[in-house]
Amino acid sequence: MKPAVFEYETPTTLSEALCLLDEFGYDAKIMSGGQSLIPMMNMRLARPQVIIDINRIEELNYIRVTESEIQIGGLTHHYQVEESKEIKKVCPLITEGMKLIGHSQIRSRGTIGGSVVHADPTAELPVMLSTLGATITLASSEGYRTIETDEFFLTYLTTTIEMNEILVSIQIPIPPANTGYAIDEFTLRKGDFAIVLAAASITLDGEGRISSATLGLGGVDGVPVLLDEVTDGLVGNFPSRELISECCSVIKELIDPEPDIHASAEYRKDLCVTYAIRVLERAAERAAKQ
Ligand SMILES: Cc1cc2nc3c(=O)[nH]c(=O)nc-3n(C[C@H](O)[C@H](O)[C@H](O)COP(=O)(O)OP(=O)(O)OC[C@H]3O[C@@H](n4cnc5c(N)ncnc54)[C@H](O)[C@@H]3O)c2cc1C
Repeated sequence: MKPAVFEYETPTTLSEALCLLDEFGYDAKIMSGGQSLIPMMNMRLARPQVIIDINRIEELNYIRVTESEIQIGGLTHHYQVEESKEIKKVCPLITEGMKLIGHSQIRSRGTIGGSVVHADPTAELPVMLSTLGATITLASSEGYRTIETDEFFLTYLTTTIEMNEILVSIQIPIPPANTGYAIDEFTLRKGDFAIVLAAASITLDGEGRISSATLGLGGVDGVPVLLDEVTDGLVGNFPSRELISECCSVIKELIDPEPDIHASAEYRKDLCVTYAIRVLERAAERAAKQ
């Protein structure tokens, strides 16, 4: 199928793009990689009258690593993040997670802003950003606002972004050195969207006890789910397979996934337990090797 007729704008600065959003309002849609928007337009699930293509706004394409955080511009492509040596050094979870997004062709066009705003509940980036305690910065002609991921993601494909806003950057705090990460997912074929996805971060103290831990799941709700009830039980203890399995035994009571053509609710719950244990164990092993 082909999309309905639309006008096409190509701003070269952020302020120009924001002016266009103010001018066209709900009739306009931002396009970055077009990997999700164009299929939706082709299927006539989206019919914007004006496309604002932000690919020429170079000021939105950057990766900066400071002492305290990683800053990634909204227009930065997945492959740029995947290939960044600086990011791999301070937060290898991101490098590992980016490789799970679709195929290399998708990652060469898709962007951070597009993936986060599209907010697919089984997409890797929203789960990674939630697990890592990232923040999201949005710009409008009235100024900037920075919010936490749990304020940003509302439900399936829905966020708090306003129609006059552009996602300009994400910020990811750099964790202490003795932190280990892992991400893994269950897919029917390599490169497919995940059926269930889990990401974990574990930090050890000087004696080898867990000082903090985070577990994020995707594919179980409309938004990324953080299971503090599981990780609270890990903190203060030495990591072990038995401890992790015991803490994960409550997961099935904490989640309520919807069944779909790919997996029943019960199967999804089983997958969550398996993948949660797997990523927590791997994160603990990696933290111990730091
Ligand atoms: C075959 C295939 C397989 C895929 N597999 C996966 C996968 O396994 N995992 C995964 O996570 N994704 C997957 N994707 C999606 C891919 O990651 C997309 O790149 C991503 O979802 C959208 O990014 P984009 O830059 O292409 O955004 P676009 O398609 O351009 O836009 C998506 C939405 O975000 C809005 N938008 C875009 N940029 C901004 C911005 N800066 N500010 C405000 N709004 C903005 C648009 O208006 C639109 O509503 C797949 C896509 C395809 C086609």
